[in-house]
Amino acid sequence: MNLIDALNSIWSQILQVTSMFVIPDWGQVIAALPVVIVLGLVAPFLTFLALGTLIYLARKPRVSVRFEEGPRVAEIGADGRPIFPIGLPYCRRDRLVYPSGALRCERCRDDLAVICPMCSLGRSALIDTCANCGLVLKVKRRAVAVRASAGPRPGGAAVA
Ligand SMILES: [Zn+2]
Ligand SMILES: [Zn+2]
Repeated sequence: MNLIDALNSIWSQILQVTSMFVIPDWGQVIAALPVVIVLGLVAPFLTFLALGTLIYLARKPRVSVRFEEGPRVAEIGADGRPIFPIGLPYCRRDRLVYPSGALRCERCRDDLAVICPMCSLGRSALIDTCANCGLVLKVKRRAVAVRASAGPRPGGAAVA
């Protein structure tokens, strides 16, 4: 066996191996056609499913958090006294907690009170500067009180 023969045999082997990948076996392709069709239908479905799940997960936090517009009833603490969240206006008479910015009780028309976030001292919600520690509580007309619909509410326990 000389060098040319050896090269020829290597070349023919290369061609043989390449033809397995390059030239398709049409019989096999037609046999696999149902699989291709199923994949063509299932793959987009799975893609949409994954996409939908991603969109759902991306939007989920917004759904579980809701904006509170009106007043809500304050919870009763372990000692039987209502728990008013710090920094939010509240009516002690009606046991209602209002969104930040509210000044008067919708039920009894009384001035609302607010607990200072810094020194926990109660005062009228009409006054935005704490007389005790000087902290200015920014009053926004638009309700910004946001809390998750599930789970315990932060704060309040030390106030009652
Ligand atoms: Zn009231
Ligand atoms: Zn204060």
